[in-house]
Amino acid sequence: MSYDFEFGLFNIDDFLDEGDDNHLGDYPLLPLRDTVVFPHMVAPLSVGRDRSLKAVEAATNNDNLIVVVGQRDPEIQEPGLDDLHDIGVEMVVGRILRLPDGSTNILGQGRRRVKILGVSQTQPYIRAQIQPLQESKKVTLGTEALMRAVLSLFEKVVHLSRSLPEDAYVAAMNLSEPGQLADLLASLLDLDFQKRQELLEILDPTARLQRLSILLANELDVLELESSIHTKVQKEVDRSQREYFLREQMRAIQSELGEIDIQTAEVQEMEDKLDSVDMPDYVLARAKKELARLKAMPPAAPEVGIIRTYLDWLVELPWTKATADNLSIGEVAKALDANHHGLPKAKERILEYMAVRKLAGEKPITRSPILCFAGPPGTGKTSLGRSIAEALGREFVRVSLGGIRDEAEIRGHRRTYIGAMPGRIIQTMRTAGTINPLFMLDEIDKVGADFRGDPSAALLEVLDPEQNFEFSDHYLDLPYDLSKVMFITTANILDPIPPALRDRMEVIEFPGYIEEEKLAIARKFLIPRQLSENGLGRQEHQLLFSDKALRTMIRDYTYEAGVRNLEREIANVCRKVARRVAEDKPAPRQVTVQSLGKYLGPPHFLRDEEDRVDEIGLALGIAWTEAGGDLLPVEVTLMDGKGGLMLTGQLGEVMQESGQAALSYTRSHAHELNIDGVDFDKLDIHIHVPEGAIPKDGPSAGITMATALISALIERPVHRDVAMTGEITLRGRVLPIGGLREKVLAAHRAGLKTVLLPKQNQKDMVEIPKRVKRDLTFVFVERMEEVLPVALLPEGNPERVLEGAGLRPISSRPN
Ligand code: ADP
Repeated sequence: MSYDFEFGLFNIDDFLDEGDDNHLGDYPLLPLRDTVVFPHMVAPLSVGRDRSLKAVEAATNNDNLIVVVGQRDPEIQEPGLDDLHDIGVEMVVGRILRLPDGSTNILGQGRRRVKILGVSQTQPYIRAQIQPLQESKKVTLGTEALMRAVLSLFEKVVHLSRSLPEDAYVAAMNLSEPGQLADLLASLLDLDFQKRQELLEILDPTARLQRLSILLANELDVLELESSIHTKVQKEVDRSQREYFLREQMRAIQSELGEIDIQTAEVQEMEDKLDSVDMPDYVLARAKKELARLKAMPPAAPEVGIIRTYLDWLVELPWTKATADNLSIGEVAKALDANHHGLPKAKERILEYMAVRKLAGEKPITRSPILCFAGPPGTGKTSLGRSIAEALGREFVRVSLGGIRDEAEIRGHRRTYIGAMPGRIIQTMRTAGTINPLFMLDEIDKVGADFRGDPSAALLEVLDPEQNFEFSDHYLDLPYDLSKVMFITTANILDPIPPALRDRMEVIEFPGYIEEEKLAIARKFLIPRQLSENGLGRQEHQLLFSDKALRTMIRDYTYEAGVRNLEREIANVCRKVARRVAEDKPAPRQVTVQSLGKYLGPPHFLRDEEDRVDEIGLALGIAWTEAGGDLLPVEVTLMDGKGGLMLTGQLGEVMQESGQAALSYTRSHAHELNIDGVDFDKLDIHIHVPEGAIPKDGPSAGITMATALISALIERPVHRDVAMTGEITLRGRVLPIGGLREKVLAAHRAGLKTVLLPKQNQKDMVEIPKRVKRDLTFVFVERMEEVLPVALLPEGNPERVLEGAGLRPISSRPN
């Protein structure tokens, strides 16, 4: 019988002398690292280890017989008996091939299973005592059936497998012994070492065949899966090739018939659009060039999408389309008044702007500055902008610049980037749809803050009338004319705006409102609007807000310079009432102070006027913040120590310096202050500015810090109703401050009675509403010495010191 289909090298009959001797024997042993040789199978083995080479040599003196047996761990270099499996195979060594690189290959054929009983020597090679193992050759009916089943499985495997030749099946078919069949298949299948050794160790042929049938079934599953994946991939490849050929054919047919394909249709559509929109010649030329590129491209090219999007932008951006301005100044003035209470400065400036436009006619006005509406949130900046646009008949668009990090956000990314887009300016122009909208750039004060690169340079180009007629966007890559746009910027505070930008802008202040103004705005605008927005506009559902209720809302439910939260609270009430109306429940017709709690819950802000006490070491300053003005308490504590000064409360550098100046002033005036006895070197001073974790800076808390410090040192309380603001010099001069109106309004809102201000700010008092002047007492000071008698209570005399100090309050007299 011949099994040489695998190697075609030699015939089994040349070697195999299936002796019947079942006696114990003593054989050279060849340990195998990761192969298993099965009885009757021909196997090439590479031999490298010294002892193994010697064992092969010894085999030539032993009828060419050797025992091969698997190692339990393939890594072991010199295995002992314990490192070897118990069952191995007696093998006839056929050929020995010494290769030029020094290694040796042998070709052998397995004879029969043997059991390793022991080792008689380990050097110079291993000799082992073995016991040949008999196996039953009996074929029962059941074994016969099993053999057929296994053969049929094997046939399928051979069919699907790419490595097994058809001959393998023929060889298997011709075997009649179950054990041999199992051994042949075990050696042919792609099994790992463990599984092979397992099969070798199953001595009962039927059991071995059973195990093999399971392994075959597994193999078949894997092969079927592989094959189905392969088929799918093949199908996909075929399909796309087919599509490609079909498309090519379709093109050919269409061109024969004089028809056009989809892409040509799109190109045609784009061409029509280009003809219909009005664009400058240079834009049209660029568009045509891109279109020509598009035409020349195969439809599946990745660039097709990019070019198409670009062309869409060119077509949809407004290039020449403009709205006609309504330049009737009277009408615009009326419209502005109808929508907004107060704001005289802003309204006046807008009318002037229009007048200039009207006189200039078609000529561009190169020197006209950009307006900047500056003021706390909710003071009507945006809504006035919207009204101006409406009155002029222009489109209104806005872009928030807050948090902009990158020049690319303004100017866009070059088209070479994936997913590139134009910057916000061009995007917004597309939304506007005309080249002369009113364009609001919100929060211009928040740009410089966290900027990487330089957005303000790009903004400069946007806002500068001498440059913005050819604004360059990276994506567009064509100059775009922004000169017809009316830009208005908004800001909460002016300080953070980069100077170059600020120079271009004319600032119009939107001051915070006082209670009376808020009341009027609520009555005239906010309430009617919220009523109608919440379905309460009709007469039968009208809802009245009492004056008192509105004032309580302003005082206890909102704490703001503008009216944004007030509007929110009004909307809140309206919604709750609207719901009752909708549910057919009895709805109130009046909102009173008593019913407020029901709609809005407990007051959000408790005015602490009543709780305020005259305290030692605590003075009230006033600060100018983004949200308008706010109280800024300053606390001072003294402790035994070593002359240290600690300033806490998130203070900026300037504010820290103010604290030091206040201390130096105090020390140098120890005599006048009657604190000669204080040894500053044995004292630690802690100045703390509480109120949230808001960063605070600026010099204007100077006199407040000095007052709190002196109060602590001379142990005289600061009057609870006095607020103050002013920079202090080392010599005790009080210097002017900014944001006077917001600061004074904050003191007013907080219900204070007296405000100490630098003398040099007296001229700014024109900004203060009359009502506030009536309610507050203003004391203007030039020196720190004038502050103390007003701010501090006299020793042992709880009366106000104002009169005692011989000072008369300078109050509501207009300057
Ligand atoms: P800002 O842009 O200054 O933050 P908004 O323009 O958004 O403020 O104003 C907030 C709300 O207050 C808007 O509904 C606006 O109509 C209203 N409002 C503010 N000031 C006035 C005013 N003087 N007259 C009428 N409504 C005002």
